[in-house]
Amino acid sequence: MGSLAEDSAAAAAARSRHGLLAPWLGDRAVTMHGAALMSRCDTNLEKIMQIGLYEVTAILDGTFALDGGSMFGVVPKPLWERAQEPDERNRVRLASRLLYIQGAGRRILVDTGLGDKWDEKRREIFQVDRSAGGVLAALGERGIEPGAITDVILTHLHFDHAAGTTFREKETLQLTFPNAIHHVQRRHWDWAFNPTLKDAGSFRAEDFALLAGSDRLHLLEGEIELFEGIEIVVLDGHTPAMQVVKIRGPETTLLYLADLVPTTTHLRWPYIMSYDNEPLVTLAEKQRYLLRAAREGWLLVFEHDPQVTALRVSEDNGVLVPGPPRDL
Ligand SMILES: [Zn+2]
Repeated sequence: MGSLAEDSAAAAAARSRHGLLAPWLGDRAVTMHGAALMSRCDTNLEKIMQIGLYEVTAILDGTFALDGGSMFGVVPKPLWERAQEPDERNRVRLASRLLYIQGAGRRILVDTGLGDKWDEKRREIFQVDRSAGGVLAALGERGIEPGAITDVILTHLHFDHAAGTTFREKETLQLTFPNAIHHVQRRHWDWAFNPTLKDAGSFRAEDFALLAGSDRLHLLEGEIELFEGIEIVVLDGHTPAMQVVKIRGPETTLLYLADLVPTTTHLRWPYIMSYDNEPLVTLAEKQRYLLRAAREGWLLVFEHDPQVTALRVSEDNGVLVPGPPRDL
């Protein structure tokens, strides 16, 4: 791949040609995101993709909403609202979309979703909708009990990714997947217990503190091939040591993006969340992995896009061009 400096120059040149808006932010993007209805098709576990040793599928745990300004960072509202229409309180609807991987003796869940530890006030603020039953119902439809999950890979411990790790039973917290080894980056684990004032609101100890000192916790020390064909990539722009998951097969490489690129709207370079601790690091990480994904035809899976489960991208003069949306 080219150097980051070259990538950056190409992207800057493309931006100056097209302005902030990439040419593909046209009617199609508006059509894709403007519809109020959420696609439920990716709850259908019949849609399974074989990648190497594994069957892989996306699971829609539910939806929630966050402030649109925070989601799109420096991008002015007149631009982002064309792609994602806000509600009367400026919130945009987001998916909680998890990845389920089965094969080689493992049943692996990537992130645990929104969980059900929501009081009325917070449920209303975040517009949490898990009316379809969430990840447990989706697994249950396939005959998979929570106790059968062997591994949980937590990309990071923000509540919209890790809240489903625990549930409350008569005021006592329990692990939702009691037999699973929970894989977390050690650097991120340490940060989650001691975040800054900027990001403290994204961590809730009730979601993960139960794992402390438990033999269900596996702290990872950086990038690793966790299982054959399943690689952990460590990123630092969004939060220290977020880990995204790459699955390699003979024909397909899949990258589950977590909060590197939460929605397809964030495929545009300047669209970086205000939540990110190091936005320029996020920009460099986006350029590194998305341009490589374009060159090598990786399938990108979006954890938070309200409409699109996955797609491939190509690159045109430094601008990413999304291919047709697809299910897994
Ligand atoms: Zn996050």
